[in-house]
Amino acid sequence: MEHLLGFDIGGTKTEVSLFALGGGDGEFKVSTSSGRSDLKVIASKRMPTARDEGYEPYLKNLLDLISSVTNEASIKIEDLKGMGLGLPGSVHPESGKMLNGNTHMMIGKDVAGDLREALNFKTPIAVNNDASCFALAEALCGAGLKYETDHGLPVSKQQSIGIILGTGCGGGLINAGRILNGGKGGGGEIGHTTLITDGHPCYCGRLGCAELYLAGPAFEKNMPGKKATEIFELATKEDPAALAVVNDYRQKLCDFLINLNNFYDPHFIVLGGGVSKQELIYKDLEENLGKKMFVSGKVPNVYQHQLSDSAGVLGAAIMVL
Ligand SMILES: [Zn+2]
Repeated sequence: MEHLLGFDIGGTKTEVSLFALGGGDGEFKVSTSSGRSDLKVIASKRMPTARDEGYEPYLKNLLDLISSVTNEASIKIEDLKGMGLGLPGSVHPESGKMLNGNTHMMIGKDVAGDLREALNFKTPIAVNNDASCFALAEALCGAGLKYETDHGLPVSKQQSIGIILGTGCGGGLINAGRILNGGKGGGGEIGHTTLITDGHPCYCGRLGCAELYLAGPAFEKNMPGKKATEIFELATKEDPAALAVVNDYRQKLCDFLINLNNFYDPHFIVLGGGVSKQELIYKDLEENLGKKMFVSGKVPNVYQHQLSDSAGVLGAAIMVL
C-alpha cells in the first residue's frame, strides 16, 4: 500500500496527517486522472504554529511532529509516495517559497526545500497555499463528487472555486482536477479584490477588500461585543439589529460571488471556514446570483463544504497524485 503525508500549516495550528492510499476501505474517495481511489488517515498530529518563536524553532518542531506521525504508523520517510504542504500564504509556483501572508516568519522561506534537506527526502514535495488545498480536496473528494452525482458531469471535467470564509478570506481555483496556480504566485488572493470602492483600509494597502467584509471578524466589527455565531443565532430569532448585519453580509457575499462567477464561470463554488457553517448565508443565494449574473441561466451551485476540517491536509496530500 502507498502512503502520502499531508501538511496543513495555518497561522495558529499545524496539522500533519499520514494517509494510506488504495486500501479499499478509505474514508475519502478521490478522483484522479488515473481513476478512483480511496484514502484513509492512519496517523495524525497537531501542534501550535507558534509563529512568534521564529522559523528555525518551528522547523525543528515540525520535524519532530513528522517523526511522531510516521513512527506511530511504522512508516519510513523514504517509503512515502510523496508529501504535500499547504502554507498560510501565497506560494511561488516554481521555488515553493511563501511570498506573503500573515505568518511573517515563513515569508521568503522554502519550507518544502528545508524539509527535503532535513529528511533527505528524494521524491518531489508539492506546495501550495492552504485555500488552494481546501479547494482541491473538495473538488476531488467532496463537493466535486456531489456535483457529479447531481449533474452527471465527471470530476475530471469540472471547474470550481473553493473559498475559505474564516479568520481571513482566501480561495483556490480548480480546473479539471488541478489547482490553477497563476504564473508568479499571486493567484487565488480573492480576499484582496475590491468589494467596496473607498471602503475600509486593508493591511494589504488597498481600500475595501472583500476580506474585510466577508471574513469572520467582519461580524464583530458590525455588532461590537458579539461573535459571529451569536449574531447568526440572534438573526434566526429575528433580532432586527442582527438580521440587518446578516442581510448586509448576504448581499455582499452575493456580489462577491457574482464577480468571481463572471470572471471564472465555475460549475460550483464551495465554501469552507467558520462562517460557511451558518445555514443562513445560503438562503436564496443561488437565486440571487442568478438575478445579476452577466450570462443568466448559468448559475453555479454554491455548496457548503462536504469534508471535515481535514480538507486542508487531504488537499495537500493529494496534490502529489
Ligand atoms: Zn486587502
